[in-house]
Amino acid sequence: MADDRFHVYDTTLRDGAQQEGLNLTVADKLTVARHLDGLGVGFIEGGWPGANPKDTEFFRRARTELDLKHAQLAAFGATRRAGVKAADDPLVAALRESGAPVVTLVAKSHDRHVELALRTTLTENLAMIRDTVSHLRAEGQRVFLDAEHFFDGYKSNPAYALEVIRTAAEAGADVIALCDTNGGMLPDELADVVLAAAGTQARLGIHCHDDTGCAVANTLAAVRAGVTHVQGCANGYGERSGNANLFTVVANLQLKRGFDLVPREALADMTRIAHAITEVTNVTPNSHQPYVGVSAFAHKAGLHASAIKVDPNLYQHIDPAEVGNDMRMLVSDMAGRASVELKGRELGYTLSPQDSRELVERVKDLESQGYTFEAADASFELLLRDTVGGDRRRHFSVESWRVIVERPAGGDVVSEATVKLHAKGERIVATGEGNGPVNALDKAVRQALERLYPELARLELTDFKVRILEGTHGTQAITRVLITSSDDTGEWSTVGVDENIIEASWQALEQAVTYGLLRAGHEGD
Ligand SMILES: [Zn+2]
Repeated sequence: MADDRFHVYDTTLRDGAQQEGLNLTVADKLTVARHLDGLGVGFIEGGWPGANPKDTEFFRRARTELDLKHAQLAAFGATRRAGVKAADDPLVAALRESGAPVVTLVAKSHDRHVELALRTTLTENLAMIRDTVSHLRAEGQRVFLDAEHFFDGYKSNPAYALEVIRTAAEAGADVIALCDTNGGMLPDELADVVLAAAGTQARLGIHCHDDTGCAVANTLAAVRAGVTHVQGCANGYGERSGNANLFTVVANLQLKRGFDLVPREALADMTRIAHAITEVTNVTPNSHQPYVGVSAFAHKAGLHASAIKVDPNLYQHIDPAEVGNDMRMLVSDMAGRASVELKGRELGYTLSPQDSRELVERVKDLESQGYTFEAADASFELLLRDTVGGDRRRHFSVESWRVIVERPAGGDVVSEATVKLHAKGERIVATGEGNGPVNALDKAVRQALERLYPELARLELTDFKVRILEGTHGTQAITRVLITSSDDTGEWSTVGVDENIIEASWQALEQAVTYGLLRAGHEGD
């Protein structure tokens, strides 16, 4: 179990799940919880049992299906309704029955919200807090309190906001998390309010939203002002501009402030965990996300690259390996020979000066035609192998391909592809049908090669992006196709460029298959 002196409290499954377009099934929530536990967070807020059937179900299944090594589950819910006893309130009962060792109660700490939203008196609100906290404590649960709208409430009526903290702490709440619910605070003013709240002697936490782009900075300012409990969400998920990004908060505190929050080896797995969570949430990862984004340590300019070769620390704020990221060099026409050499070394190749020069020329030439290698690492590696190996041995060669697109009257459009390939001394003719020409070509290639290379069955095309590049004056527009493929161990991207979209797709597809076979251990014949 994590150290209780400082809490890393994740609310991805409750507050993060409020993000527009983010929908998690119960199974998804269990998977995300496992990933968060793998990172070593102390608390995982699973949702609001009783108010949301999916969340009730989550806590029920978590009891048998989750085997958490670090984290404890927290159930989120409101204080009792006005005018009833906590013991008689069915929503409070649902929190008790969730089986979660921790309950995080949300309570109003802004006087106007009490009167206008809750429609009760300031005194009754305090009674609701006192009664609910002490009831759950008596029933054996640990209680944290989220003081909703605390910072705006403090501005409106500081005495009342502080009274909410004192009431909750006296009733037995272990932590009072001060919430910047509207996300409008800036670090300096937020720190002043936290210092004032610290005068209550209660243990304080912080919960920030990113509406000013300061959620992480605000969280750090609150820690500096004395809070010992930080809340946030994986990848900064949350409604509007999101919640404080818990990964950034943890990395900052651990690597820059010397806090010992999560195991070092877990921190070194953070990039993988951040991306694994995006697979579950189906939210495109932000490549520029601090610490864990694929571009977080990537350099482009050729000038930097030559200095990086001498000393990588000159251009990076931490060793990317500490968070499981790496200094991926972007190969582009801005980059000089040093970038290419470095990228080659990253991929495990030693390039002679002659090879590097040749490769830089080829990259520049191809990029001027519209290719991009920044997003097509596999295509770059194939190009590199061609350059180093001279005559690259191939798994197959192409005699021809053909695609027919047909729409029978009143029917759906179907595509049919025929490929004629040579592989392992055989000439193979195969056809495939698909809902589009690329799909049909993909099926035909597999049909042709799967007997010789059964590993192709594991290869899947996962993404297909098309971009029309404007032609320069007097020339035609050209099409660039990027294909992302995956097998059970990872994914790779390839690029094709042509005036004809199907030819561009074919180039990317052919490389995708070649690279997939190399990954499967076939050097080609
Ligand atoms: Zn919130």
